Amino acid sequence: MKIDEILVGITDGSYIKDLQTSSTWKAVGCEQCNNIGYKGRIGVFEAIRSDESLEELLKTNPSEREIRKATKSQNILSMAEDGVIKVLKGMTSYEELERVVELE
Ligand SMILES: [Zn+2]
Repeated sequence: MKIDEILVGITDGSYIKDLQTSSTWKAVGCEQCNNIGYKGRIGVFEAIRSDESLEELLKTNPSEREIRKATKSQNILSMAEDGVIKVLKGMTSYEELERVVELE
């Protein structure tokens, strides 16, 4: 399953400690959400901490892959990883995550 493949990429175990991985939730509509199954919005995030070496790298117009490599030690979650964690916490559905983030 895609979720497992994405979870494998999370190297910092603290992100997934105590996270249940056996089930995901499906959106079921009700009166309160006008039968769409979602209420409110949450974000999925990805951010990197900048420092001098990264600033130098950015001057070279690096690819996304090169930036990822240079910031690997920061153990930052990708949007897909952040999103999958939110799916497993029941904050949203896998279908909704798939709709907004490219899960490759
Ligand atoms: Zn509802």
